[in-house]
Amino acid sequence: MELKDIIEEQRQFSARHGWHWKVENMENMMKRLEYGTIAMTGEVGEFANVLKKVIRDKEANIPIEEEKFAHLREELTDIFIYVILMSVTLGMNLENDWKAKKSKNEERFKRYEVEGK
Ligand SMILES: [Mg+2]
Repeated sequence: MELKDIIEEQRQFSARHGWHWKVENMENMMKRLEYGTIAMTGEVGEFANVLKKVIRDKEANIPIEEEKFAHLREELTDIFIYVILMSVTLGMNLENDWKAKKSKNEERFKRYEVEGK
Protein backbone atom coordinates (compact mmCIF):
# COMPACT_ATOMS: atom_id res chain seq x y z
CA MET A 1 0.00 0.00 0.00
CA GLU A 2 1.40 3.37 -0.97
CA LEU A 3 1.40 6.41 1.31
CA LYS A 4 -1.15 8.24 -0.86
CA ASP A 5 -3.54 5.27 -0.50
CA ILE A 6 -3.08 5.20 3.29
CA ILE A 7 -3.81 8.94 3.42
CA GLU A 8 -6.97 8.57 1.32
CA GLU A 9 -8.22 5.58 3.35
CA GLN A 10 -7.66 7.47 6.63
CA ARG A 11 -9.40 10.57 5.20
CA GLN A 12 -12.39 8.47 4.14
CA PHE A 13 -12.52 6.71 7.54
CA SER A 14 -12.59 10.08 9.30
CA ALA A 15 -15.22 11.50 6.92
CA ARG A 16 -17.44 8.44 7.49
CA HIS A 17 -17.40 9.30 11.20
CA GLY A 18 -18.22 12.94 10.59
CA TRP A 19 -14.67 14.26 10.96
CA HIS A 20 -13.89 16.24 7.83
CA TRP A 21 -10.25 17.18 7.48
CA LYS A 22 -10.44 18.38 3.89
CA VAL A 23 -11.90 21.84 4.38
CA GLU A 24 -12.74 24.62 2.00
CA ASN A 25 -12.43 27.82 3.97
CA MET A 26 -9.79 29.43 6.16
CA GLU A 27 -11.91 29.43 9.35
CA ASN A 28 -12.54 25.68 9.15
CA MET A 29 -8.91 25.09 8.27
CA MET A 30 -7.78 26.94 11.40
CA LYS A 31 -10.25 24.97 13.57
CA ARG A 32 -9.05 21.64 12.12
CA LEU A 33 -5.37 22.53 12.56
CA GLU A 34 -6.01 23.72 16.12
CA TYR A 35 -7.91 20.51 16.98
CA GLY A 36 -5.32 18.34 15.19
CA THR A 37 -2.44 19.98 17.05
CA ILE A 38 -4.15 19.45 20.42
CA ALA A 39 -5.04 15.85 19.56
CA MET A 40 -1.57 15.02 18.23
CA THR A 41 0.05 16.60 21.28
CA GLY A 42 -2.14 14.33 23.42
CA GLU A 43 -0.86 11.32 21.50
CA VAL A 44 2.75 12.50 21.94
CA GLY A 45 2.00 12.68 25.68
CA GLU A 46 0.64 9.12 25.63
CA PHE A 47 3.80 7.95 23.84
CA ALA A 48 5.98 9.78 26.37
CA ASN A 49 4.08 8.26 29.31
CA VAL A 50 4.69 4.71 28.03
CA LEU A 51 8.33 5.55 27.30
CA LYS A 52 8.67 6.90 30.86
CA LYS A 53 7.57 3.50 32.17
CA VAL A 54 10.01 1.68 29.86
CA ILE A 55 12.87 3.87 31.09
CA ARG A 56 11.80 3.44 34.73
CA ASP A 57 11.74 -0.35 34.36
CA LYS A 58 15.09 -0.38 32.58
CA GLU A 59 16.71 1.74 35.29
CA ALA A 60 15.34 -0.66 37.93
CA ASN A 61 16.68 -3.64 35.94
CA ILE A 62 13.12 -4.88 35.45
CA PRO A 63 12.72 -6.78 32.16
CA ILE A 64 10.75 -4.65 29.71
CA GLU A 65 7.62 -6.45 28.56
CA GLU A 66 6.96 -6.75 24.83
CA GLU A 67 3.50 -5.26 25.40
CA LYS A 68 5.11 -1.93 26.33
CA PHE A 69 6.85 -1.82 22.94
CA ALA A 70 3.55 -2.77 21.28
CA HIS A 71 1.97 0.14 23.16
CA LEU A 72 4.74 2.51 21.97
CA ARG A 73 4.13 1.40 18.37
CA GLU A 74 0.40 2.00 18.77
CA GLU A 75 0.86 5.51 20.18
CA LEU A 76 3.35 6.38 17.42
CA THR A 77 0.74 5.23 14.90
CA ASP A 78 -1.80 7.56 16.55
CA ILE A 79 0.66 10.43 16.02
CA PHE A 80 1.09 9.36 12.38
CA ILE A 81 -2.70 9.45 11.89
CA TYR A 82 -2.84 13.09 12.99
CA VAL A 83 0.11 13.92 10.73
CA ILE A 84 -1.85 12.38 7.86
CA LEU A 85 -5.06 14.24 8.72
CA MET A 86 -3.40 17.63 9.10
CA SER A 87 -1.59 17.06 5.79
CA VAL A 88 -5.06 16.63 4.23
CA THR A 89 -6.18 19.91 5.81
CA LEU A 90 -3.11 21.71 4.47
CA GLY A 91 -3.61 20.17 1.01
CA MET A 92 -0.15 18.63 1.11
CA ASN A 93 1.36 15.97 -1.07
CA LEU A 94 3.15 14.31 1.83
CA GLU A 95 5.44 12.22 -0.40
CA ASN A 96 6.64 15.23 -2.39
CA ASP A 97 6.91 17.41 0.71
CA TRP A 98 8.99 14.72 2.41
CA LYS A 99 11.31 14.50 -0.62
CA ALA A 100 11.75 18.29 -0.67
CA LYS A 101 12.51 18.36 3.06
CA LYS A 102 14.95 15.46 2.74
CA SER A 103 16.84 17.36 0.03
CA LYS A 104 17.04 20.38 2.32
CA ASN A 105 18.32 18.20 5.16
CA GLU A 106 20.89 16.52 2.87
CA GLU A 107 22.42 19.95 2.35
CA ARG A 108 21.90 21.19 5.91
CA PHE A 109 23.54 18.18 7.60
CA LYS A 110 26.21 17.49 4.98
CA ARG A 111 29.06 18.24 7.37
CA TYR A 112 27.83 15.60 9.84
CA GLU A 113 27.85 12.78 7.27
CA VAL A 114 29.91 9.81 8.45
CA GLU A 115 29.10 7.15 5.84
CA GLY A 116 30.22 7.18 2.22
CA LYS A 117 33.33 9.29 2.81
MG1 LIG B 1 -3.25 6.99 21.69
